[in-house]
Amino acid sequence: MAPAEEPTAATLAPPPHFVIVPLAAQGHTIPMVDFARLLAERGARASIVTTPVNGARLRGVADQAARAKLALEVVELPFPTGVDGLPPGIENADQVTDNNHFIPLFDALKRLAGPLEAYLRGLAARPSCVVSDWCYGWTAGVATSLGIPRLFFHGPSCFYSLCDLNSVDHGLPKQTAAAGDQEKFVVPGMPVHVEVTKNTAPGFMNSPGWEALCAECVEAMRTADGAVVNTFLDLEDQFVTCYEAALGKPVWTLGPLCLANKDDAEAMASRGNKADAAQQSAITSWLDAKETDSVVYVNFGSLVRKLPKLLFEVGHGLEDSGRPFLWVVKEAEVAAPEMREWLAALEARTAGRGLVVRGWVPQLAVLSHRAVGGFVTHCGWNSLLESIAHGVPVATWPHFADQFLNERLVVDVLGVGVPIGVTAPVMIFDDESVPVGREDVVRAVSALMGGGAEADERRRKAKEYGEKAHRAMERGSSYENLTQLIESFRQRGGKQG
Ligand code: UDP
Repeated sequence: MAPAEEPTAATLAPPPHFVIVPLAAQGHTIPMVDFARLLAERGARASIVTTPVNGARLRGVADQAARAKLALEVVELPFPTGVDGLPPGIENADQVTDNNHFIPLFDALKRLAGPLEAYLRGLAARPSCVVSDWCYGWTAGVATSLGIPRLFFHGPSCFYSLCDLNSVDHGLPKQTAAAGDQEKFVVPGMPVHVEVTKNTAPGFMNSPGWEALCAECVEAMRTADGAVVNTFLDLEDQFVTCYEAALGKPVWTLGPLCLANKDDAEAMASRGNKADAAQQSAITSWLDAKETDSVVYVNFGSLVRKLPKLLFEVGHGLEDSGRPFLWVVKEAEVAAPEMREWLAALEARTAGRGLVVRGWVPQLAVLSHRAVGGFVTHCGWNSLLESIAHGVPVATWPHFADQFLNERLVVDVLGVGVPIGVTAPVMIFDDESVPVGREDVVRAVSALMGGGAEADERRRKAKEYGEKAHRAMERGSSYENLTQLIESFRQRGGKQG
C-alpha cells in the first residue's frame, strides 16, 4: 500500500474561487461555461455571473453541476433598466434584431459594474480571481477596487488576437480606414505572412460609435494579470508564444474547452440554448442512417441571420451539390410565409438526402457523429475549434469580426479549410449584397466532401489535429495549464478587506 501523503500547504488551502463573467452572447458564454465546469471538476470553485434571461439558459448546466456535487453556481444580477434605445427583454446579443440596439445593449451591460462589485463585496471570502470577457473592460475597475486579480478571457484564435494586438500597436486601423476596398496590407509582427484589406482587417469594434468601448477594452487587456484562451499549443504554438510576448503577461491555453463535455451527452445538449429533445433524437436517427463522413453540416452560429436572397443560394447550392446535408436555419430567418413555402419545397425535392432543422441544434453532438464529414461554417472560433477537435474539415464563409482572420488560419496555416470565396463582411440584419452564389456553395462543398489529393490531405490534417486536441485535454498541455492555473491561485483567496 502506498504511504499516505503528508498534507501540504496546497492541499490544506481552501479551493480557489474563480468568478467568471461572460459576455451575454452565445459564442462568448458557451466556452466560458465550459471553462467554469472544468474548473469545478478539477476541484476549484466557479461562480458564473450573469443576468436573469441568460441565467435561465444556464439552468441545465447549474442543475447538472448540483447533481454532480460540483462547486459551480450561477449568480444572477438584475439586468440594468432605463438604457435609452434598448427594448425591454433584450439581455443577449442573439436577441437583437436591429443593428442600432447593439451599443445600447453594451451600455446596459456596463451598468452591471455596481451590482458585480456589491456581489463580490458580499462574499465571505475574497475570490481568488475574476475571469471576465475581454469585451467587458468595465470589470477592470471593479476587480482593481477590491484588490482581486483579473484575467481576461479572449474568445478568438490566438492567431487573430495576435493580428489584432500587433495592428493596434502599429497603427494599422488608421491606415486601413483611409484605404480603398482592394488595397492590401501586411499585418505587422506576425511569424507568418498575413495579408488583409480594409474589409478583413482585425478589430471587432472598428465601426463608428464603438471607439470609447473599444479603447476601454484594450486598456483592460493591458492592465489584466493574464489571458485565458480557448486553443491548444499543438494547434497555435507559434502564435501563442508571440501573443504572450506581445502582451507581456501569461497566456493560459486551456482548450479546446468543448472537449470538457465529450463523454457527457447531457452536458453536450445543455450548451447554449436548450435543444428540443425530440428534434435532437430525429437528427441522431437521420445521421445514424448515413454513411461515415458522408454528410455536410451547415450552420452559421448564433448571430448570423441571412436574408432570403442568401438562404436561396445556400439551399440551391446544397441541392445542386448532390451530397447529403444537414442545414440549420434560424426560426427568424424562415418566419415569412413565402420562406416557409420555399423551404418546404426544397425539403420535398431533397427528401432522404437533406435534412433542414429550424432553430438550435446541439452542435457538438452533430460534429462528433461519425456520419459528418465536413462543416460549412461562418468561422466563429468556437465552431472552427469544435470542428477541428472532432477531426472535421471545413468550408469557410466568414461574415464579420474575427471570422476573416480565423479563416486565414484554418485555410493557409492549418490546411483544414476550403474557402467559399468571400472577401467582404455583411451587416447582420440589413445587408442586401449577395457575396456568395449557389455555384460557390457547390464548388466548396464538392471540394470539401469529394475525393482527390487535396481533399484527402485536408481530411488527414483535420483528423491529426483532432487527435492532438484530445491529447491536449486528456493529460497534455491544456490539462497541465489548467492545473497550473488552479494551483497558482490556490493561495490567493482571503478575508474581505
Ligand atoms: N451553437 C450550437 N447550436 C447552434 C448554433 C450554435 O450549439 O445551432 C453553438 C456552437 O457550438 C458554438 C456557439 O454556439 O459553441 C457559436 O459560437 P461561434 O464562435 O462559432 O459563433 P458566434 O455564434 O459567436 O458567431
